Amino acid sequence: MLIVMEHFATPEQVEAVCERVRSLGLTPQPIPGGDRVAIGVLGNQGWVDETPFRDLPGIRDFIHVTKPYKLVSRDFHPADTAVHVGDVRFGWTEPPVVIAGPCAVESEEQVWAAARAAKEAGARVLRGGAFKPRTGPHSFQGLGYEGLRMLAQAARDVGLPVVTEVMRIDQLERVAELADCLQIGARNMQNFDLLKEAGRTGKPVLLKRGMSATLDEFLAAAEYILLEGNDQVILCERGIRTFERALRNTLDLAVVPYLRTVTHLPVIVDPSHALGRRDLVPPLAKAALVVGACGVMIEIHPDPCRALCDGPQSLGLDAFRVLMEELRGVKDLRGSRGSLQGRT
Ligand code: PEP
Ligand code: MN
Repeated sequence: MLIVMEHFATPEQVEAVCERVRSLGLTPQPIPGGDRVAIGVLGNQGWVDETPFRDLPGIRDFIHVTKPYKLVSRDFHPADTAVHVGDVRFGWTEPPVVIAGPCAVESEEQVWAAARAAKEAGARVLRGGAFKPRTGPHSFQGLGYEGLRMLAQAARDVGLPVVTEVMRIDQLERVAELADCLQIGARNMQNFDLLKEAGRTGKPVLLKRGMSATLDEFLAAAEYILLEGNDQVILCERGIRTFERALRNTLDLAVVPYLRTVTHLPVIVDPSHALGRRDLVPPLAKAALVVGACGVMIEIHPDPCRALCDGPQSLGLDAFRVLMEELRGVKDLRGSRGSLQGRT
């Protein structure tokens, strides 16, 4: 529930409402607004009764929030949240950011070549998987901690912050030591224990939309992280499964402008996993920026045809350089944020 105060409500009246919320065993969260304060009520399992608040002065209205999330919603937090990954900021009013790197870390040389190309072309964050969630158990599963070490070293060498996927709770501590941002993949979007523990690390989390998750489920998953006191969450649309089988997934670009109305958290788009074909990545990466995405994540590889994972959707390094040039020319529909972050 949201308790909306009158514009003339005094700080004492706001505190009295907060105190009454606490006396019910719930948590008040005051949300200062332009001309009035609202108080979010957290911790309730179901409907919150308004009766205990009826005698308190300064209350204008009660709004019952029936969604499975609150902290991620603009109702509770109207201002945009900027997520800091190293020295890079993701947000609705920040210039968009490009994250690039290989699907999986395969060798020191491979990750280093990709990292250097990413940096030189103007990407601001390196990606790479050390722990790979593969559909088939016979597929390459990633180099594990050795891959993580190579990735972190390449990131340091070229001077980029790095995001990498964490699949299990017991990996969190070591991954959090070396990575600037923790990726929780589509297949783990509803691994609630992992979400909670990732939230507790205090590290930024890049949360990918589950391939059959509704947007309410996606936001509820992010809510698990925010409930641990960590609002540094980037939401990533990576394609969903529909009746259409021509491409790997269906890229749901409508989520970008839609989520901007619903949440203060930044949203980025991963066209690589959505499409599964490298020739289609550039047009959809551009489209993502046009509709206002806070960034795009692109898989690149020094030799895509030999990639151990997701080669068909990975851009070669030259193609990536061309794409970066093109992305610099893209204006988003709001036209207010300027061009790519970190443009050289
Ligand atoms: C990835 O980013 O490499 C990945 C496995 O993505 P997703 O979880 O979206 O499939
Ligand atoms: Mn991949």
